[in-house]
Amino acid sequence: MELTIKDLDVSFIQGDREAHALRGINLTVGKGEIHSLVGESGSGKTVTSTCIMGLLPSPPVRINKGEIFLDDINLLSLSEEDQRKIRGMKIAMVFQEPAKYLNPTLKIGVQITESLILHLGMSKTAAEEKALDILTTVGLGGGKRILHSYPHELSGGMKQRAMIAIAISCNPLFLIADEPTTALDVTLQEQILELIMDLRNKLSMGTLFISHDLRVVHDISDRISVIYAGKIVENSSKTELFAHPMHPYSRLLLKSIPDAEKRGTRLVTIPGKVPDAENIPPGCAFHPRCPFAEDICKIEEPEMKEYQEGHSAACHFCGTGKIQ
Ligand code: SF4
Repeated sequence: MELTIKDLDVSFIQGDREAHALRGINLTVGKGEIHSLVGESGSGKTVTSTCIMGLLPSPPVRINKGEIFLDDINLLSLSEEDQRKIRGMKIAMVFQEPAKYLNPTLKIGVQITESLILHLGMSKTAAEEKALDILTTVGLGGGKRILHSYPHELSGGMKQRAMIAIAISCNPLFLIADEPTTALDVTLQEQILELIMDLRNKLSMGTLFISHDLRVVHDISDRISVIYAGKIVENSSKTELFAHPMHPYSRLLLKSIPDAEKRGTRLVTIPGKVPDAENIPPGCAFHPRCPFAEDICKIEEPEMKEYQEGHSAACHFCGTGKIQ
């Protein structure tokens, strides 16, 4: 299934205060594509994913405008009951911390089989057989022991796999992976990334992969969108973004990645921090941190423009030769 987000604009309202979390997000994730949404903490990544899942509480959240389509289903127009059916059945989500997602009082087997019984109407025996298959798919062989284990009896990597097993149990057509490897060591991180690629290949799931780290998304992404202060500032194929980043923010994110071949060279750090959603700077929101900013950047917000086929960026000076 294809996911399309059109001009999504979201605020958090508290009394007379407004935090403008998403400011017109446009994004398409094709069937079977892994599309990464990358930006620093506080840039709007998780608000985007929770909005797709219909999990943002209203109030305090106000959707100012925009649409989210899963093929031709407009997710924002669904009733709560229909949203619940879509979650798990058509869209699934995995998180950074399985501990928050897994129920500590239920065995893993129960947590997988209950949605199979509830959503797919399977018998208990059939659901347990299917659960064993799913555990094998996510690389948790010796499934019977896992089925009868509580979450605290599993290692960190096993918990992550168990969470993915629950998420994919009802054969979802779309997966949102929100920083699923951030809390893991490098080896486990690689294993989980391989698993996500493997699932995409086996199940043709479109995947929105959320990360603050371009290094993590390098191997798995087909496309990348860079988000800053609630706006996509660059969108391109992975190959093109790494070879020819256009937006100053993307370029600085790339320069802040440690390069094993350039040991001893100093890493670039991006000065300042992501603005508070209550106080987004006027003009280009990146101007207080941008080494190329000029007066126009403080006044006029740059529009997203396509500079090459499939490669767009929002900066007054992209394509002028000024951004080096
Ligand atoms: Fe920097 Fe100006 Fe481009 Fe914004 S519009 S990224 S401030 S050069």
